[in-house]
Amino acid sequence: MSRSVAIIGGGLAGLAAALRVAEAGDRPIVIETRGKLGGRATSFEDARTGHVLDNCQHVLMGCCTNLIDLYGRLGVDGLVAWHDTTFWANPPLDPDRLTPSWWPAPLHFTGSFLRMRQLDLQDKVAIARAMWRMIRLGRHGRASWSGRDFGAYLRQTRQTPAAIERFWEPVVVSACNVPSASCDASYAMKVFQDGFLQDAWSPCMGISTVPLARLYDPAREAIVQAGGELRESTSAIALNFDGRRITGVTTDEGVVECAAVISSVPPDRLAKLCSDTLRRADARLKELESIPFSPILGVHLFFDHPVMDTPHLVLPGRATQWLFRKSGEQGREHIHAVISGADSWMALDEDEIVRRVLADMAWALPRVRGLDPVAVRAVKEKRATFGCVPGIDRLRPKAVPDPMVGGVPNLFLAGDWIATGWPATMEGAVRSGYTAAAACTGRGGVVPDVPPGRVASLLGLRA
Ligand SMILES: Cc1cc2nc3c(=O)[nH]c(=O)nc-3n(C[C@H](O)[C@H](O)[C@H](O)COP(=O)(O)OP(=O)(O)OC[C@H]3O[C@@H](n4cnc5c(N)ncnc54)[C@H](O)[C@@H]3O)c2cc1C
Repeated sequence: MSRSVAIIGGGLAGLAAALRVAEAGDRPIVIETRGKLGGRATSFEDARTGHVLDNCQHVLMGCCTNLIDLYGRLGVDGLVAWHDTTFWANPPLDPDRLTPSWWPAPLHFTGSFLRMRQLDLQDKVAIARAMWRMIRLGRHGRASWSGRDFGAYLRQTRQTPAAIERFWEPVVVSACNVPSASCDASYAMKVFQDGFLQDAWSPCMGISTVPLARLYDPAREAIVQAGGELRESTSAIALNFDGRRITGVTTDEGVVECAAVISSVPPDRLAKLCSDTLRRADARLKELESIPFSPILGVHLFFDHPVMDTPHLVLPGRATQWLFRKSGEQGREHIHAVISGADSWMALDEDEIVRRVLADMAWALPRVRGLDPVAVRAVKEKRATFGCVPGIDRLRPKAVPDPMVGGVPNLFLAGDWIATGWPATMEGAVRSGYTAAAACTGRGGVVPDVPPGRVASLLGLRA
């Protein structure tokens, strides 16, 4: 008989879990407090600019096998545009381009890396030394760096100030949402080992060609067709615990009775759903308030002239790390600027934010100089992601209770902050949803990683 599984949260983790629960023959009941799906990776209608805007630009990579699988299940994988070249601003010259060649991984970026004009020979030798060491460390060696900061690794491999500022920092802060010096070294290394060095497909960058919210429209139908339910604009208030198992979820619309619960809400929200008795009964719920957060700032700017020729641009050494050229409407050019690890920006008002972003844009894009945007919208996300700092692995709980310690057997945890080994990303969220659904139903599981290339594998980057 099919069982009812309550899934709290309709972000990527919750949707991924719901689809897999339905596929396993159980009945997912998704409880989502907002009137839309996608959680942090969604869009909103902005009255001021008159556009549907993404909460923030969301980028995936070729190595995001589970997210790509989810998009495939939803039939929206064709709405993602893939880019194999990354453009790095280098004014007054044209941007440097990092493009994979036909050389086997990990040598595929060698040519374009050597041609990067913003790094001198000494910087490049230092970066190559650190990359080579990461390859030789392999995944086991990487694990031994867990709990230490990446700054220590950069010092140990004698990185130059320019290599740190113009290369390591923009990549690490964008992927892990904390500055490279304070990022847990094993996560920073994962970005390079799995995302750049092991094969040529993994570093390709995927960007949705439609507002993010549209990617989730098919999820509604899929869940309902499978006999499940989607309860939007409904808030979970408490997990009902009988001292041994969860019996249901109390919501502001009544009680949802169920055989199991998958919670996919962020840790601070989950803490609010748990009684003290429940938290004492399950060790995974003890440290929920200790998980640190890190902010991201996204700024939408509309110009009435074209200002940017490349689809995106890394701004090395600048406070604004990325610019994305979005599809402009009504003759307008829509640029989205992203600042990760944005602690020092959170207290600023929108005028000051726009002033600083425009200064960075004018540095990178001559056509912006002297130009005022016709409309702007800054979106601050104070609790954008968990902070990928040393010690974070100790705080990230597993989807299922540890049999050695015990816990609540029918409570499964999902969300990008669960122990997936990934930084806080859409891929991490989907992996957590697939893992929780598999633990709950006994079917399915995560999609395998992209296999490393032969040469990369021989050198040390074995799967
Ligand atoms: C500004 C920004 C930029 C980002 N950029 C990228 C990027 O480029 N690439 C990338 O891979 N990742 C990026 N991320 C991270 C990515 O958005 C998240 O990792 C991912 O969306 C998390 O999904 P989730 O399902 O775990 O959590 P969430 O998306 O937070 O979903 C949780 C859901 O639970 C709901 N909820 C909360 N409390 C309750 C309750 N009591 N009852 C019912 N529902 C509740 C929420 O409304 C939400 O919909 C970014 C995040 C932010 C904020």
